[in-house]
Formats: sequence, structure tokens, C-alpha cells
Amino acid sequence: MSDRQFVLRSRRVVTPDGTRPASVVVEDGRITAVTGHAAPPGPGVPVEDLGDDVLLPGLVDTHVHVNDPGRTEWEGFATATRAAAAGGVTTLVDMPLNSVPPTTTVEHLRVKRDTARPAVHVDVGFWGGAVPDNRADLRPLHDAGVLGFKAFLSPSGVDEFPPLDAAALEAVAAEVAAFDGLLIVHAEDPERLDGAPGPDGPRYAGFLASRPRDAENAAVERLVDVARRHGTRVHVLHLSSADALGTLAAARAAGVRITAETCPHFLTLAAEEVPDGATEFKCCPPIREAANRDALWAGLAAGTVQCVVSDHSPCTADLKVPDFGRAWGGIASLQLGLPAVWTEARRRGHTLDDVARWMATAPAALAGLAAKGAVEPGRDADFAVLAPDETFTVDPAALYHRNPVTAYAGRTLSGVVRSTWLRGRRIHHRGALTEPTGRLLERA
Ligand SMILES: [Zn+2]
Repeated sequence: MSDRQFVLRSRRVVTPDGTRPASVVVEDGRITAVTGHAAPPGPGVPVEDLGDDVLLPGLVDTHVHVNDPGRTEWEGFATATRAAAAGGVTTLVDMPLNSVPPTTTVEHLRVKRDTARPAVHVDVGFWGGAVPDNRADLRPLHDAGVLGFKAFLSPSGVDEFPPLDAAALEAVAAEVAAFDGLLIVHAEDPERLDGAPGPDGPRYAGFLASRPRDAENAAVERLVDVARRHGTRVHVLHLSSADALGTLAAARAAGVRITAETCPHFLTLAAEEVPDGATEFKCCPPIREAANRDALWAGLAAGTVQCVVSDHSPCTADLKVPDFGRAWGGIASLQLGLPAVWTEARRRGHTLDDVARWMATAPAALAGLAAKGAVEPGRDADFAVLAPDETFTVDPAALYHRNPVTAYAGRTLSGVVRSTWLRGRRIHHRGALTEPTGRLLERA
């Protein structure tokens, strides 16, 4: 027996084949077997019995803006990964923008990795950025281990990360297809945004009208067209407009390599309930109406949308002025994704198997992280232990990300993350965290 071998036992282990009583054998940080609940451990092998608490795969959040270095006062690797660990997220993938420098060259990637390395409580991978002037950097970034490339079609919100115009998108799609990389895109069409009325001060209805569904729908149609013509693997980020689901489903049925994600806030919040001036709810694309939310759930259930990831995009509290035109756009929710989604999912008849698929297995597959995202032999022993029936009320000051701002303040959610395990080590237990032991991940 290895001295690094132990067994985690629970009456509810969420595996790719369903939830069942099981014993999970861990050795040197990997899952080596999933056996019967009562299976005796080898001689001298310790057993940790979780009772009725649910053993889930550690979540894989492929959409996190860490902003470090450069805007570390907004967030940082230490604080973001602390929040991740406390929320049952064992892998996050950092977005290439809002940090300075953005991750648009190999040298910038090195700066980001050096910043992250000593600080991370969970495993961290990196997306690269595709901007108008860095086409020659894409393949070197791919070779250096980024998991794919993010691009915008409309302004990103920061000057150092400009969008791609139509010609640049064509060129980038062709280049990414040449090395069979992954292109992930913020899908809002700039002309449709320009044609919409501007945001109207503190009124949420005014902000919603300024980011219309047809801007998303047109952008998704364009991305389907690009993916079809170039054969590029394309992923639609943070889908909010359910009107685009039909386009995506038809494209997938026709063999176009296109996937999509949505976010906890689109699945759990609704435009009708956002108070005027409450810019902690501002994000782009925006939170839409309750009927749109219902349709997004149907898209998830149908498999047209595969992933649910946070788009955690925090800022300092002073940037959330009560004016939807001027406030920074972004919702901070990294620590709350699992309970937020679970609370709504169970109400709609979904199970924790569904949640694990949306929030762990599918994002790991998207990012090519074969060791992550499921409780099965051969994968890393990354787990979230959840008390699914326990409730809590969100207190922003008690969250672990840097600035105590969140759209979920005051909400009562189901599902308390009791502990989090990373490669066989418990890194979080009832709010207490170990020293950082996360690693930096590269494309396999
Ligand atoms: Zn984002």
C-alpha cells in the first residue's frame, strides 16, 4: 500500500454513471478505484466517512477574471482561488483580459504565471487572448500551454483588449483552425449595440434595452458561419439570449463545432427583480427576463448549452456607481456558483448529476483538462463535499473574494460546501483553508 492511499466514503457519490453509495480510493492524488460503499479498505488504509454529505467532482470554472497583475485591487490569484476553494471549485481558468498585461503574448503569459504560481489555492489554467495585432502570437501561446483564445466582437470594456472586426475574426478563425485550437467568443454584435438606445442612468430597463437580444443572436449566427466555413472549434461565452438556442442547436445538428456556456446569474436571477440603481447586477450581456431564464434552462436540459460557469468579474465597490451606463459591468459569484445553481436546479427537477455535468465534466472537456471534472478512476482526486439540504443566507462580507460586492447578497441558498479536496488533499474545511497548494495547468 502507498502511504498516500486513503478512502473517501459517502452514501451519495456523484459519478458519471449516476449518484450512488460508494467508496472512492485515492492514491498519490489520483482516484484509483470507485468501489462499493461497504468495500473494506486495504489493511491500514484510512477511511474518511462523509455520511450523507454528497461527494461531487471538484467544479471546473472556465470563466474567471482574476485581473492579476495590474488590477489586483479588483481581485487577485490569492483571493480568487481562496473563494474558489471555499466554493468547491478546484480548477479555474483565468480570462486573458482585465489584468495588465493581458495574456496576448508568451511573455505576458509568463508574467501571469509567475504572479499566480506562489498564490493559488486551486489549480489554474489560462486562456490566451486574440486581439487585432497578435495573430503571430497565437500559435506560440498555444504551444506554451494556453487552453484556447478569447476574442470580443464588440468593445471589451478595457482599452488594452480591443475587439476583432469582421476581417480580423476571419483571420483568427483560420489561424486557430490551423493548429486545431479553441476560439471562445464574447458574442454581442457591435452594430446592433450601436443601434440600440444608450443606457439610461439607474434604470435597469434602460440598461437591458441597450444590450438587446438581437445583438447576441446576430453574433451567434456569425460565429456559426465562421465555425462552419473554417472548421474552427468555437465556444460561445456567457450566453444570455435564449433566442439564439435554435441557431446553436441547428448548427450542432449539422456538425458545426460550436459549444456554449451560460452563467449562474442568467439561470437564477431575472430582469424583473433587479432594483433600479443596483449595478451589482450589471453584466454584459445582461440578465434578461424570467421567461428567457426558463428557456435557458430548457437549452441546458436539451444539451444545446453544455457548461455553467461563473464569469466572475469583480471590481472595487466604488466602481459600482448606481448608474448602469457608468458602472463597471461584471458579477462576482465564484464562491456561490454551486449553491446558486443547485438551489434553482432542484426546484426545476434537476439532480446533482446534472449540476456536476454542467459545472465540472463539461467545462473540463471544453478546456481539454482530461484529469479534471469527474469522480472516476484515473482522474485527479478533486472533490467538493456538499450538504445539499442545508441553507444559508449570503453575506457579502463573509465571502472570500477581494471586494464584498455580489448580486446574491441577502439571498437564501441551498447547499453548503463543507470541504474541498485538491489532488487528494483537503484544502478547505468548514471555512478554514490550508496554505496554497494549487498548480498551474497547461494544455495537454
Ligand atoms: Zn467574462
